[in-house]
Amino acid sequence: MSGRVPLTGIVKKYNSNTRPNSLLSERNKKKLIFEMKGISLIILLMATGVGQLKAQDRTPWNGKKAAVSLTYDDALNVHLDNVIPALDELGLKGTFYLTSNFTALKNRSEEWKPVAVKGHELGNHTMFHPCEGGRAGREFVSPDYDLNNYSVQRMADEIVLTNLILSKIDGKKPENRTLAYPCGDMEAGGESYVDTIRSEFVGARGVTGRYEKSGSVDLFNIGAFMINGESGQELIEMVDKAIEQKALLVFLFHGVGGEHGLNVYLKAHQELIEYLKSKEKEIWIAPLVDVAEHIKKMQD
Ligand SMILES: [Zn+2]
Repeated sequence: MSGRVPLTGIVKKYNSNTRPNSLLSERNKKKLIFEMKGISLIILLMATGVGQLKAQDRTPWNGKKAAVSLTYDDALNVHLDNVIPALDELGLKGTFYLTSNFTALKNRSEEWKPVAVKGHELGNHTMFHPCEGGRAGREFVSPDYDLNNYSVQRMADEIVLTNLILSKIDGKKPENRTLAYPCGDMEAGGESYVDTIRSEFVGARGVTGRYEKSGSVDLFNIGAFMINGESGQELIEMVDKAIEQKALLVFLFHGVGGEHGLNVYLKAHQELIEYLKSKEKEIWIAPLVDVAEHIKKMQD
């Protein structure tokens, strides 16, 4: 007997009644038993290894009690000037939902490349930020960018082209990115556009404030709390609640220290991120794309 014997061959030989053991020399018997032990060990190691990987993938939230994603909408100058330096100082990573046509992307596109290199996510917030107009609170929506006047195809085209623009900046593929629905609206011309853009992303963020539990996250409508005027203490209490509920908490910021009607003071934002840093052992703080990829693995 030379070389390695296939497992099936060994088992057949070992169990065979048609071949008395006496026909095997003592040397061959020892060799046969040694090889079987070796194969059993390999099978055991493989099984244990696979088991460990799966267990790790399925631990919410990446082995920590809770997860927090810091998201910032609308490509504002204050994100480049205030937020990113503050996050970098603490080594925290956020998600910045960029609208191609908005000032801080159009005029400062070069400045977003190093942001992506540092590990922040450049998320898709469409090209022109269309929302549903014609109702209370939506007076800012112009007829040209009113989703009631859009088709699903037109909205999908706008989103896909924004992915192309973002990929020119950060070099990432669409499946390594998330989308934030402008105004949280998910319909164009009265029809859902979610399925049409689904293959373009790992997930998408909505605007419904909820603490997401690991087993029940809708990857294409991830809940988020829109922040407007909360104090540092109030933001910190939200983090504590996420830990208590073992949940994912997504913060949705616009202005941070000004530039938008929905705003939070710099001081409150700073208190929040410093608290998050102090709780890093308990909380997984990551861009939403990383959290969404993790959820996807757990759901598969
Ligand atoms: Zn927006």
